[in-house]
This record gives sequence, C-alpha cells and structure tokens, in this order.
Amino acid sequence: MAELIDGKSVAEGVVRRVKALTIELIEKGAHKPGLAVVIVGEDPASQVYVASKSRTAKECGFHSVQHTLPAEMSELELLAIIGELNADPGINGILVQLPLPGHIDAGKVIQAIAPQKDVDGFHFINVGKLGTGELETAFVPCTPAGSMLLIERVRGKDLSGLNAVVVGRSNIVGKPMANLLLAANCTVTVAHSRTKDLAALARTADILVAAVGRAEMVRGDWVKPGATIIDVGINRIAAPEKGEGKTRLVGDVAFAEAARTAGAITPVPGGVGPMTIAMLMANTLASAYLAAGLKRPSF
Ligand code: NAP
Repeated sequence: MAELIDGKSVAEGVVRRVKALTIELIEKGAHKPGLAVVIVGEDPASQVYVASKSRTAKECGFHSVQHTLPAEMSELELLAIIGELNADPGINGILVQLPLPGHIDAGKVIQAIAPQKDVDGFHFINVGKLGTGELETAFVPCTPAGSMLLIERVRGKDLSGLNAVVVGRSNIVGKPMANLLLAANCTVTVAHSRTKDLAALARTADILVAAVGRAEMVRGDWVKPGATIIDVGINRIAAPEKGEGKTRLVGDVAFAEAARTAGAITPVPGGVGPMTIAMLMANTLASAYLAAGLKRPSF
C-alpha cells in the first residue's frame, strides 16, 4: 500500500511556523501581517471558505479584516475598495473570493490588486514571475504551492530526472503546478480534455497531479508503480451506503485502486485541501516580510 501523504498535518506545521515567524517579525519592530478578505454576495460555499480564511489568519496572529459586500454593488465601488486596501500600509495581503457576481469583471478586479499584495498569485506580474522562475519574489497560487510542499515531503526539493504529468491546465491549479514542477527540474507534461490516451501518458508519471474536477477519473491501472500522486480534485458524489440522500467527497483519483500501485498518495479529504489556506497564510507572511525589507521565509 502507498504511503498516505497527510496534508492536514503538513498544513498544521505550516500554520505553526507562520505563527512563530509572525512573532519574530513583530519583535523586529514591524507591524503584524494584515490580510483583507473581500467577499461580494451571499454564495454559501464562499462564505464558509472566507470564514475559515479569516479564522486561520487570526490564529496566525495576523491583523485580519473581512469586507462582506452586497451582491448588487457596482464594479466601480469594488475597485475603489481594492484601491483603499492597496494604499493601506497595515494590509499585506488582499484576497477577493471568487466567483464574483456576473456584472463584475473578475479579471479586472484581480488585476487591480497591487502585485505585492496579491497573495492569491493571480495577478499577471506574479504569473509572469512564476513563469520566468522569479520565485524569490513571486506569489504562487496557494493550491499548487501547497501541492508542491507535499511533493517535497516525499521526494525532496530537487526533482531532477523525474517525469511529472499534470492533468488539468487551469490558471489556478494546472498551469502554475506545471511551472513549479519545471522549476524543480522535472520533465513536465500538461494534459487536458483534448489529450489522447491519457491513461498511457499517466503511466509514464513519477509524479502525477490530478486537477480535473471529475470524480475518480484516474484509475488504478493509470498509475506507474511507486508514483507520487497528488489529488487536487474535490467532488461530491452520492453515498447511498451512508443513508438516503447522503453524499461524500472524493478526489479525481480512484483512491483505493491507485493506492495499491502508487508509492505515496494524498487522500481526499485531508490531502491538498488543508494546504490551500495554510499557503495563503504563508504568502501573507512573505508579503509582510518583504514589505519590512526582510528576506521572505521559506516553507
Ligand atoms: P477547471 O478550471 O475546471 O479545470 C479543469 C481542467 O481539467 C481543464 O484544464 C480541463 O481541460 C481538464 N479536464 C476536464 N475534463 C478532462 C478529461 N476528461 N480529461 C482530461 N482533462 C480534463 O478546474 P480547477 O479550478 O483547476 O480545479 C480542478 C479540481 O480541483 C476541481 O475538482 C476543484 O474543485 C479542485 N480544487 C481544489 C482546490 C483545493 O483547495 N484542494 C483548489 C482549487 C481547485 P480543458 O482545459 O481542455 O477544458
């Protein structure tokens, strides 16, 4: 059986380190890291995410601000709030929870965030820095950054000579993940919905990252013996065995099958999921260190 990669415990370790480094930063005379989370509208899933981001920020000892704004607010009003947060020296990280209501152009709002406060790593400047290997100052999107930490726990920091296959090419997960693996010296292939014979391609992977959004698509016979599997997918499926109308969460990988052949694998839940918020805290801390003229801590 494959080694289980315990994302919950790694994420707790990251948060502990962020807390300790926050205390050190304040001892050096800087103000505490400030994170502003902006939510527009009342999407219940978004509200849960935002509450848990704000809670973890407080746990880290951050100055945590939450802007809960009405769904009918205009794009201009939202841009004005982003402008105020950009200018506020007490705020190091700005996160706008997506999705935004349809009448607001999310791309425009994200590009309005000052790149040095873009702790989600979605601004073109940060995307460009990651693409050109400027990792010292780039903010990397939290889910791939967290996935990379999990890979490093199993394989170390230098992945020279390993083949990585990333299934999914979104701007939020697949593409930044591929860039991180490339920066760590993997030979990287990015697969997507138009890829031919995905199973055969997946079998070449020493590191297989699934970020698709299709429940249990990656089967056991897609897995190279000993491979490290990172399952980013979060899919809710019916679970009649738990009772009528009940559901459960599964990843993009058929876990029980894949775990028989893989060397190490992340579970869902409890794998990549907890890493996302932890890396948001790490990015906000990094922004505060950089703003204070200090070297950013590594994780
Ligand atoms: P997305 O934007 O929908 O992208 C999905 C990607 O999968 C696309 O590139 C798509 O290809 C590809 N794809 C779809 N069907 C495919 C198929 N049959 N074969 C091969 N590739 C296929 O999704 P995302 O935002 O990257 O998220 C992916 C998954 O990760 C979702 O389950 C999401 O809930 C989860 N997620 C988890 C976290 C976390 O914190 N753990 C964070 C973010 C996302 P095309 O480009 O050709 O359409």
